Amino acid sequence: MTDVAARARRDEQIDAALGEIWARHREGILAQLAVLEGAVRALLGGTVDAPLCTQAVREAHKLAGSLGTLGFPDGTDAARELEQLLAEPTLLEPVQALRASELVVGMRDALSRAPVRGMSPPAEPLASDRPAALLVIDDDRALAEQIATEATLRGLRSRIACSPEEGRRLAAQERPDLVLLDLTFADGTADAYELLSELTAEPYPVPVLVLTVRDSFVDRVEVARRGARGFAPKSVPVQRVLDQGVQLLERSRSSVVTLLAVDDDRVVLDAIAALLGSHGIEVVALEDPLRVWQQLERSRPDVVLLDIDMPGVTGIDLCRVLRNDPRWATVPILFLTARRDEVTIQRVFAAGADDYLTKPVVPAELLARIRNRLDRVQLHRLLAETDVLTGVPNRRSSAEQLDRLVQLADRFDEPLAVAVIDLDEFKAVNDRHGHALGDAVLRRIGELLRQAFRGEDVIGRWGGEEFIVGMYGMAREDALRRLKDLLYAFSEETFETDDGESFHVSFSAGVAHSSIDGSSVAMLHRAADAALYRAKAAGRSRIVATSPPPPGSKPRRRLMHPRGQPGARDRQR
Ligand code: GH3
Ligand code: MG
Ligand code: MG
Repeated sequence: MTDVAARARRDEQIDAALGEIWARHREGILAQLAVLEGAVRALLGGTVDAPLCTQAVREAHKLAGSLGTLGFPDGTDAARELEQLLAEPTLLEPVQALRASELVVGMRDALSRAPVRGMSPPAEPLASDRPAALLVIDDDRALAEQIATEATLRGLRSRIACSPEEGRRLAAQERPDLVLLDLTFADGTADAYELLSELTAEPYPVPVLVLTVRDSFVDRVEVARRGARGFAPKSVPVQRVLDQGVQLLERSRSSVVTLLAVDDDRVVLDAIAALLGSHGIEVVALEDPLRVWQQLERSRPDVVLLDIDMPGVTGIDLCRVLRNDPRWATVPILFLTARRDEVTIQRVFAAGADDYLTKPVVPAELLARIRNRLDRVQLHRLLAETDVLTGVPNRRSSAEQLDRLVQLADRFDEPLAVAVIDLDEFKAVNDRHGHALGDAVLRRIGELLRQAFRGEDVIGRWGGEEFIVGMYGMAREDALRRLKDLLYAFSEETFETDDGESFHVSFSAGVAHSSIDGSSVAMLHRAADAALYRAKAAGRSRIVATSPPPPGSKPRRRLMHPRGQPGARDRQR
């Protein structure tokens, strides 16, 4: 599907959603209009019904916000003018009363016609708008075509390359969002491995799923080292291969963001939800501004969208209160209001808002402004999840990632290794060479970890000089080999002091494996920690793995592995 076609389809979906909202709220909107008509009728008859006028002003204000959004731009203009005319009913000249009557008649007329659709200029697509581009690199043309066909059915665009060379060329022409790569070609595997490294290189790594034939020898360690994000066995139906691919795509695309919209007009809330929902933004709609605290706690939004005029409390008050609470001081706040006067704009920004938009909602504009804020949110989030010194995920974030890895391993019945790494005699390093050099050592191990464990692996700084590594799909021996390589590389590093002295640092590690130690984060971590203790006791600078129970002993109860023997699917070796 082309971008243009995709956009047209999305516009159709939005139009359909807005049409549905109009149908649902038609009665209510006509009732609002009836209030205006009542007030105007009274004025024409020479009486000023003050409470009725006040109510009419309120309804006119709401209609100004909602009608344009639903496809009645003239309705918004008329409502806006009426809001002003009815604000001071006692000062109204007869000619103005006539004008008001003309406006309400015009509004009813406009609402009896079909709403205007597709008024908005096309939005610059959010990442999630564009159909994802898949590149299949495989010399098995028939299989590649099957995959491409299935991919098209799922709304992906796909291209096929029959050699690593062709794949390289196509990837350079247009960056794919996902690559399915076979590693064995007629002229060997070297070029495919090389291409894998190129595709997964920083700063813009492409997620790559490696296609494996059941009995072909694929070096999982090498593939993981080169940054592949997973394996897809060719023996399973293409549907499953794509399931895996789509999952990977979803994980690598920005995570779903939550927006809390507070507006006393259900129509506007529904429209916002329809517009943003189709862009991967989850909208939590709140009609009652007094419940905002409760809702903030519950939905923990990434962005807040506030109306100004609401019963009980104004959006500006809410904004001020949010800004004074340390938990919400930095959440992006955007205003969406029917007001456009200078004073309001000033008050909005003075209260701490980040941006200001006027109703009616213009989808393209709303999206662009929200995206602008979200880019920042994502940057902040990345900063919040990364340990500043070492550049690896911090404990909270890596614990979450590890948790996900455990679930994935359980679902796909893949083995999982967890290692705890602790620098040796690091206190002495600090004491002897100073804290700054100690920091340099930590930075270096962080760098090595990031280089050695990419793709499907999880790394994290667990504490001061303690790190954790999760290795997905790794047999026990492979995990050990990777850690030994790391230990070797790290021990070879030379650190220099200011006075020309040089020194080396080592680490010890304990390794647990799902086939031996169970499959919850807690069990694996505990077992790895115990192994680490043994590594330290045995003299440091070594890797110690948990051992399988001796043959004949009672098998360990497997907590989360109802199917198959753990590790049994690690068929590659
Ligand atoms: P062992 O081989 O038994 O692990 O000995 P050790 O000295 O490494 O262990 P210990 O837990 O006694 O000391 C850890 C040291 O790590 C103490 C602490 O000052 C240091 N450390 C923790 N975080 C940092 C940091 O961010 N920077 C620096 N420079 N040092 C740190
Ligand atoms: Mg230590
Ligand atoms: Mg320690």
